[in-house]
Amino acid sequence: MGLPRLQPGDALIVVDVQVDFCPGGALPVREGSQVVPVLNRWVEAAREAGVCIIASRDWHPPGHISFHERGGRWPSHCVQGTIGAAFHPGLRLASGVALVSKGTDPDRDVYSAFERTGLANHLRQRGVRRLWVGGLALDVCVRATVLDALKGGFEVHLIKDATRPVDVRGGWHAINEMREAGCIVENGADDARGRAG
Ligand SMILES: [Zn+2]
Repeated sequence: MGLPRLQPGDALIVVDVQVDFCPGGALPVREGSQVVPVLNRWVEAAREAGVCIIASRDWHPPGHISFHERGGRWPSHCVQGTIGAAFHPGLRLASGVALVSKGTDPDRDVYSAFERTGLANHLRQRGVRRLWVGGLALDVCVRATVLDALKGGFEVHLIKDATRPVDVRGGWHAINEMREAGCIVENGADDARGRAG
């Protein structure tokens, strides 16, 4: 049971915890659904602390440029309005969560929740300085989101047990890269439980 960690000026960012990125989905991340109970505890702690909660989602039109059918890196995934694009059914997002949809331009590949979404301004307007980030996938959209947040001048904490990589080695590379860019990597399972528990 750690000390309370979330305070005014903080925000929690839940990156792309969607059906297609979990086992059984179109682009499954191994153990992807294991981030759900961890993030539920963080969402609860964030709500109790009264801090901003952001949930990003991949929200592609059919035939998005990142799909194999257009020579992209990924199978078709998270197509707008499909079950695969929905948040994991076990994820308990509080009311008042700010939703960020990304990758909506058919011809532009986007990984970061900050790219073309107005998220940085949204956070600054609310006095947010420090971010706690988890979700899927560690070596893709979490990585891009964390690196953009650091470039935007936020203090960023990665909740390591609330994320999983597409590729294990890629995950380690991403963690090193984020650390070198100034991200603080949180290892503890109970970091959020000070208030909640
Ligand atoms: Zn995508």
